[in-house]
Amino acid sequence: EQPNFASLIEDLQRKEAKHVWHPMTQQRSWSCDESKPPAAVHYAHNSTLYSLDGSTKLDAMGGLWCVNVGYGREELARVAYDAMVQLPFLSPAHGSIPQIELATKISDLLDWSAPAHAYFTASGSEANEAAFKIARQFHAANVEQDPSGPLRYKIISRHRAYHGNTAGAMAATGQAERKIGFGPQPPGYIKVGTPYPYRSRETEAQHGLDLAASLDETIRMEGAETVAAFICEPITSGGGVLVPPENYLKEVRKVCDDHGVLLILDEVVSGFGRTGAMFGHHHYGVTPDIVTLAKGLTSGYQPLGACVVSDRVFANFHDCPDAVHQGKVASTLPPRLAHLRSINTYGGHPVACAVGLRNIEIVEREGLVERAAEMGAFLKRTLEEAIGAHKHVGEVRGRGLLVGVELVADRDTKTPLDDDACGAIVRRCADAGVVVGRNASTVPGLGNVLILAPPFVIEEHECARVAETLRAALDA
Ligand code: PLP
Repeated sequence: EQPNFASLIEDLQRKEAKHVWHPMTQQRSWSCDESKPPAAVHYAHNSTLYSLDGSTKLDAMGGLWCVNVGYGREELARVAYDAMVQLPFLSPAHGSIPQIELATKISDLLDWSAPAHAYFTASGSEANEAAFKIARQFHAANVEQDPSGPLRYKIISRHRAYHGNTAGAMAATGQAERKIGFGPQPPGYIKVGTPYPYRSRETEAQHGLDLAASLDETIRMEGAETVAAFICEPITSGGGVLVPPENYLKEVRKVCDDHGVLLILDEVVSGFGRTGAMFGHHHYGVTPDIVTLAKGLTSGYQPLGACVVSDRVFANFHDCPDAVHQGKVASTLPPRLAHLRSINTYGGHPVACAVGLRNIEIVEREGLVERAAEMGAFLKRTLEEAIGAHKHVGEVRGRGLLVGVELVADRDTKTPLDDDACGAIVRRCADAGVVVGRNASTVPGLGNVLILAPPFVIEEHECARVAETLRAALDA
């Protein structure tokens, strides 16, 4: 007997409106007026979402820029099944085989001059929290090389940054609208400007130098001996897909080195191929002290994050207890506190790590990093042709399959297109069967960048459909 889909869908919609609290969604839209949530998605394959009512959507956001290998990989489901049967959970204090192999693989892929060391979490926010703790504790245990170590607690980040949802990661996030009403934020989180070549009046190279100089000045003014770390994404994602000038990260690295400040790169979005290189920092010839990862680590098939540190950072924790006992290293921390005191129940979950490993194997086996570079270039070209000259398009930009379209009211003045119009364009695309994202409004009126971050397996005809859909939505 055929199930009654119409009533099944209605029943789910009723329960959803009543019981599910969706993130970043005005409750009013589903509870106070007559509208209903869209029919639940029940299946997905490659880049397409299938809903119970028979409609489909091309997911040009790759979930939340994470489903890099595309939906429906049975291979990953089998790996998860096998791993769960074998070892459904292990305290992160022990090493499971998948965790050990994944940490080793990440170190190999990072390709730094010395081995890297991974501390696993269950999300990107927690990876950033761990990075801040590690940075502070690194300095506290570093008094011999840096007498000001114990004073260093400040974390500098950028106004347009998003680093997560937990207290520290939220404090490091810029984007005022994410924090209004949740104050006071923890102290010691300082902000500097974000590279934004489209809105800079300088040459790209000068813009990069200016921003590095402003970081340098901020560190000096705060008192360099109070600053633990600077964190940024190699390419800003949620803040509006902002590709920095080529010289920016190298200059930032120099500034950090001059002041003994650690450089943390948040590669939660850009890690594992999204920008057309295995890691975003590989484009810029810079090695960070700490890198944070999530999303593409498992292509979203399992929740997993990692905070990966350089050998130099690790050595302070690794050697410290013994060295302190032997009086070789001066530390402000008593020896019993000299190890990293941090634990996440689900960090390094054996099933998630097994999936992560196989996910990376797929990325390498199918040449998906190269494909992200090629399809990203194709998508940008197609967008340029379809909407590049549109009166409401200021710029099409990005790297690899991380693409942004900045919407303006006027191309000459570059006045941002207003929030309502931008929201309407996103909704029109969704109604036409294409999911596109939009940057978080940093302050009112600045949510004017459409975001495209599809799975790496997106096809050319699908890129063309995205461009056509956007053109029609902009015209409307
Ligand atoms: N960092 C960046 C750059 C992100 O985009 C995100 C999430 O979108 C995070 C950190 C936080 O990751 P999670 O949502 O897994 O906690």
